[in-house]
Amino acid sequence: MRIYKVGGAVRDRLLGIPVTDIDWVVVGATTEEMLAKGFRPVGADFPVFLHPKSGEEYALARTERKSGRGYGGFTFHASPEVTLEEDLIRRDLTINAMAEDDQQNLTDPYHGQRDLEARLLRHVSPAFAEDPLRVLRVARFAARYAALGFTVAPETLELMRQLSESGELEALTPERSWKEISRALMEDQPQVFIEVLRACGALKVLMPEVDALFGVPQPPAHHPEIDTGAHTLSVLEQAALHKQPLTVRWACLLHDLGKGLTPEEEWPRHIAHEFKGLKLIKAVNERFKAPRDCQELAMLVGEYHTHGHRALELKPSTLLELLQSFDIYRRPHRFEEFIAACEMDARGREGLEQRSYPQADYLRGAATAARSIAVQPLLEKGFKGPELGEAIKRERLKALKAYKEQV
Ligand code: ATP
Ligand code: MG
Repeated sequence: MRIYKVGGAVRDRLLGIPVTDIDWVVVGATTEEMLAKGFRPVGADFPVFLHPKSGEEYALARTERKSGRGYGGFTFHASPEVTLEEDLIRRDLTINAMAEDDQQNLTDPYHGQRDLEARLLRHVSPAFAEDPLRVLRVARFAARYAALGFTVAPETLELMRQLSESGELEALTPERSWKEISRALMEDQPQVFIEVLRACGALKVLMPEVDALFGVPQPPAHHPEIDTGAHTLSVLEQAALHKQPLTVRWACLLHDLGKGLTPEEEWPRHIAHEFKGLKLIKAVNERFKAPRDCQELAMLVGEYHTHGHRALELKPSTLLELLQSFDIYRRPHRFEEFIAACEMDARGREGLEQRSYPQADYLRGAATAARSIAVQPLLEKGFKGPELGEAIKRERLKALKAYKEQV
């Protein structure tokens, strides 16, 4: 049997990027031989094993054929006769279809090295179109390597467009899609992920609510970039520049969905877009079965981001409602993430990226003031049940009034 490094490990070594996880391919071996050497089988789908010591993935060389819709619709064939070249041709991109032996001899039948130099994300063969997940993968790699100057090859973008139009994207499971989306959002330039999806028509299929924001104008006084789609991309860009977590990035992507529903006669104003957007945010959340913390933050940011921007003008009673909605007493972290998302929204505007955001500290101060109310003294005064709740609220409101006067 011959063993090669493949995929990301080869690609990233050639790019001079630190390699974290290594994928291996094994040529000329049978499952029985692998088991005899102590490899542990994983995954029911493919002949993939874990190394007994390193835990790294070793896959038997295989060929694949499409036999139905979606990911389940694959038949594969692994046997000692399958060659390295046959295994590499089923891979998505040429830069991912290189292999290396233990002497660092490169096997590169599909010219991955040439495309690395040309900074091109190019599909290996027409079989690319057999797995719609590759549309998302390519967009994710585009987001990751944009800073190095990589773009999607025009003929690959064309295939991605055909795939998007074919209805195949709908066959992706929420789990597989979310895995790609969440990884892409955590890349250095997540906005490129959305741009590439849009360029090939996949955004319209996966997230029509986000796609609809392009071409929708906003008031130039607050939004010099005018276009709502462009704004959304900038907010995402800011979130990555500021190293925000996934929850915040997800909320940034979805915060303005309501603006896509505004009747054209009302443009460029978007009255009550926060509230109108909630059903769209909910739909996108559910479509991809986003994790709970992502779902929750996206809904809250959608509803309250303009409250965040107007924080200094809010009446104490409105401020209290905002803090109560976030349950800042038990969920302080979530409120911090809300503030971060608001700040990214404020900075994600043309020419305003460096602006200060005094609302952030003001909101933190308000939260501290509201939290300073102790329950014990009210209990001692004899409040209980709903009356206790009311008394706590009254005290918090007093504290917020004092806070507003003092700031
Ligand atoms: P990363 O740095 O994100 O791990 P990677 O290229 O190693 O990037 P993996 O998901 O670890 O990506 O997959 C390893 C290799 O398997 C890829 O480089 C590619 O050759 C192949 N591969 C993975 N998923 C697919 C797919 N859906 N279609 C075709 N080839 C794929
Ligand atoms: Mg990998």
